[in-house]
Amino acid sequence: MKTFDESGRLDALRRLNLLDTPPSESFDRITRMASQIFDLPIAAVSLTDSDRQWFKSRVGVAHTSIPRDAAPCAAVAESTETIVVPDLLQDPRYANSVLASQGVRFYAGAPLTTREGFGLGALCVLGMEPKTATASQMAALTDLAQMVMAQIELQHAFGRVDPISGLANRVQFFDDLDDLGRDDPGRTRQVVLVELAGHEQLTEGIRVLGSDYVDTMVQEAARTLRKLLGARRPAYHVAATQFAFLAPLDTDQQAYMAQLAGMLGLLRTDGTFRFVTNAKIGVAPFVTGESSPADVLRTAYSAALDARFSQTGIGIYALAEDNAHRRRFLLLEEFGAALEDPEQLRLVYQPRVDLATRRCVGAEALLRWTHPRLGEISPAEFIPIIEKTSLARSTTASVIEMGLGQLGAWRKQGMDINLSINISATNLSETDFAQRIQLYLLKHGVRPEMLELEVTESAVMEDTSRAIEQLVTFDEAGIGIAIDDFGTGHSSLAYLQRLPAKIVKIDQSFVRDMMLGKRERTLVRSMISLSHELGYCVVAEGIETSATGDLLTAMGCDEGQGYYFAHPMEAADFERWFAGESLVHAAA
Ligand code: C2E
Ligand code: MG
Ligand code: MG
Repeated sequence: MKTFDESGRLDALRRLNLLDTPPSESFDRITRMASQIFDLPIAAVSLTDSDRQWFKSRVGVAHTSIPRDAAPCAAVAESTETIVVPDLLQDPRYANSVLASQGVRFYAGAPLTTREGFGLGALCVLGMEPKTATASQMAALTDLAQMVMAQIELQHAFGRVDPISGLANRVQFFDDLDDLGRDDPGRTRQVVLVELAGHEQLTEGIRVLGSDYVDTMVQEAARTLRKLLGARRPAYHVAATQFAFLAPLDTDQQAYMAQLAGMLGLLRTDGTFRFVTNAKIGVAPFVTGESSPADVLRTAYSAALDARFSQTGIGIYALAEDNAHRRRFLLLEEFGAALEDPEQLRLVYQPRVDLATRRCVGAEALLRWTHPRLGEISPAEFIPIIEKTSLARSTTASVIEMGLGQLGAWRKQGMDINLSINISATNLSETDFAQRIQLYLLKHGVRPEMLELEVTESAVMEDTSRAIEQLVTFDEAGIGIAIDDFGTGHSSLAYLQRLPAKIVKIDQSFVRDMMLGKRERTLVRSMISLSHELGYCVVAEGIETSATGDLLTAMGCDEGQGYYFAHPMEAADFERWFAGESLVHAAA
C-alpha cells in the first residue's frame, strides 16, 4: 500500500475544483445505479475534505456534508480500498459515528482514486438494516466508482485541453504556474513562447487556403513541440497559434538559445506549410510565485513580438522595452480623456522673430499635456503616438480652436502677430478639414493670412495627392503653409516644389550643429540659399545663442525661433513678453 500523503491527497482534490460545486445529472445517474444494485435507499458520491465528507451526489441523504471524523468514507479515501461494514453498531470504529446516530447500520464504499493514486473519497451505499454485500455487488460498486472517477477527470479536462492540438491550454498553463509558485516559490525560471505566424500571414493563409490551414499548421507544430520537449515537459497551447513551455532549470543560457534556434528551424521546415510559417520565439524570465501567470505570458509574448526585429527570430524580454511599450499604450489610452479635460491640455506660445529687425512677427502654438498622475508629458512623446490614430482629428481640432481663440483675443488687443499651428499628416486626409478651419477662422474673427499651418516634411510624403489637394485649398484661401523640420525627411526638392508652401523651417538639428564646424555651417548656408532660390521664406528653428542668431542673420535667413529669443510661454506670459519687446523696439 502507498504511504498515506494527506497533503498530496487534499491538493489533488482541490485541483479538481469539485468541492461545493452543484450536483450534476452525470453523477446522479451513477449514484442511482449503485442504490439499485444494492437495493438500498441511500447512495452518495462522497469526497473527503480536510474536515468533512462532502456529497457531490446523493440519493436519500438530506445533508450536503457530515463531519469527517469517524466517517467510513474517509477510511475508504485514506486506504483507497473498498470497505464493507455489515453493521455499524457492531463495529467499535463506527458505533458512535454520526451515521450510526442517524440510524444507519450498513455501509459499503468503493474508493475514488486518481491516476496518481490519491483517494478523493468514496462511492458508497448505506442501509438502515444490517446486511452483507455479495462479491458481484462489490465488483459493480468498484466499477461504478471508476466511472465516477472517469467522469471527474473528463469534466476536469474539459476546457483545459485544446481540441485541435491536443495540448493543455492556457487555463491549465495558468493553474500549473500557480502550483509552481506554491511548490517552488522564489525561483527564477524562463518561459518560452512560440508564435507560429503573424496576424497578417494568418489572414492571408486563411484567405487562400481556408481555416484548415491554421488547424494543420497548429497540429504539425504541436507534434514537433511534443517530440522536442518529451513527455515530461509539457507544452501548452495558449492562444490560436501560440505555444508556451518552461525552459528547464539551470540551463546554460547560450546553449539553450542555440537549442531554441534549432527548434525554430524545425518548426519552419518540418511541416506541410513550411513555405509560409514565419515562427518567432519569445523568452521571458520570471520569479515563481511573484509574477502573475497572465503577466508571465504577456512578457513572453512581448518578447516574441520584438523577435520580429532580431536576426535569430528569438526575442529576449527586456524590461526597458516593455516599459516603453506599456507607456506608449497607456498614453494612447489616456489621451482620449485628456482631450475632454481642460485641466490637462493647454497651448504655450513661442515667438517667431524677424532676424533682420528682431521684431516678433508671430508665434507657434505648442501643445502641453499635464497628465494627472504622470505630470508633464512632452508632445515629442505623445504626438507621434496619437497622430497615427483617429485621435489626431480631435487633437488638431482642439488645438485650432484654442489657438484661434487666443489669436482672436490678441488681435482685438492690438497685437499684430500671426499664429502657426502644427498639424498631423492624417488631418490632410480628413475631407472636411479645410472647411472646419474656415469655420473657426470666422468664429474667432481671424483672417486666413494670420494663420499658418506647419506640416512636417514626412507628413506630406505619406498621402501625396490628397494632401496636396488640401494644401492647395488652404493656399487659395490665403492660409500660410510651412514645411516643418525641413531637412530631416527624405523628400526630394522636386517633390516639395509641388506643394503650395511658402515657408520652410530648417530643423533645429542643423541649427544646433552649425557651431561645430565649417561643413555644418556650409550645409545651413546652402539650405538657405537653395530655399531662397526656390522662392521660400526661410525660418531657422532652435536658435539658442546670440552667435547662432547673428550667423543666421548674416546668412540671410529670414526668421528665427529659439530659446535665445524666448522659450515657449503661457499665453499671459507671452502677452507680457510681447509688450516688453514692443517697448524696446518703439524706443529704438
Ligand atoms: P516643432 O513643431 O518643430 O516645434 C519646435 C519644438 O522645438 C518645440 O518642442 C519647442 O519647444 C522646441 N524648441 C524651440 N526652441 C528651441 C531651442 O532653442 N532649443 C531646443 N532644444 N528646442 C527648442 P515641443 O513643444 O516639445 O514640441 C515638439 C514637437 O511636437 C513639435 O516640433 C511638433 O512637431 C509637435 N507638436 C507640438 N505641439 C503640437 C500640436 O499642437 N500638434 C501637432 N500635430 N504637433 C505638435
Ligand atoms: Mg512646428
Ligand atoms: Mg520643427
